[in-house]
Amino acid sequence: MKKLVVITGASSGFGMAMAKEFSDSGYPLLLLARRLDKMEAMNLPNTICKSVDVTDFDSFKKAIEEASTVYGEVDLLVNNAGVMLLGNIENQDPKEWKKMLDINVLGVMNGMKIVMDDMKKRQGGTIVNLSSIAGIQPFENHAAYCASKYGVTGLTSVARQEMSKHNVRVLSINPGAVNTELLSHTTSQDIINGYNEWKDSVGAINITATDVAKTIKFAYELPQYVSLREIVISDTKQDA
Ligand code: NDP
Repeated sequence: MKKLVVITGASSGFGMAMAKEFSDSGYPLLLLARRLDKMEAMNLPNTICKSVDVTDFDSFKKAIEEASTVYGEVDLLVNNAGVMLLGNIENQDPKEWKKMLDINVLGVMNGMKIVMDDMKKRQGGTIVNLSSIAGIQPFENHAAYCASKYGVTGLTSVARQEMSKHNVRVLSINPGAVNTELLSHTTSQDIINGYNEWKDSVGAINITATDVAKTIKFAYELPQYVSLREIVISDTKQDA
């Protein structure tokens, strides 16, 4: 059997698409998110699903340890779980800033901390962190989201420096707009409408979560000595 792949945020969007892609290729999986029913409903073979909040270090670690006893060491961790609550600094509730920074940044750091030591010891393994084009350039009403994703971009680069000498790959993927549940959690309807108007002005967003999932699988399946360090991927028609 192939090596264990762990995907956070597997109950929707990119995470769910990755779960299907990796499973179709025969990987055993540990799927993590808060909504267990959505992950279990995929009914994938050789898959353990756990309801885990990535901000809870202990339950995140316990789930990985349990899956490792069944399927062996983690060879790929995809830190994909994230939220996007759009707003500007002036008007957005600071509780929303904190939620984003906790999940999008500290959740990713939790995942890395849990697997890094073991990967270092065995001189192999891959970590993929979901940043965003909003992690490399600014967008209106994305203040705290950009802060969180620039954070992911930065910490991924530092982790890459730390881990490259141990033959561990640390990759960041920066997608543009893709239709998933992500926008639905933004609390300002005006901002949601503005975002949808922007998407309409771009033209159809044809790129899908499956396209992103296939790209991540492609990067992972390159030989261990090839590090596709940073990937920026968007719909061809997205010009920003
Ligand atoms: P979705 O909202 O469809 O999926 C987000 C996933 O994260 C869900 O499975 C959700 O599951 C999970 N999640 C959220 N909070 C937590 C938490 N505290 N603990 C565990 N799981 C959590 O969004 P996408 O698939 O679009 O987004 C995936 C990643 O890609 C995110 O990091 C996002 O920022 C990034 N991204 C997305 C883009 C897009 O346009 N779609 C563009 C650029 C980056 P549950 O609620 O069940 O816990």
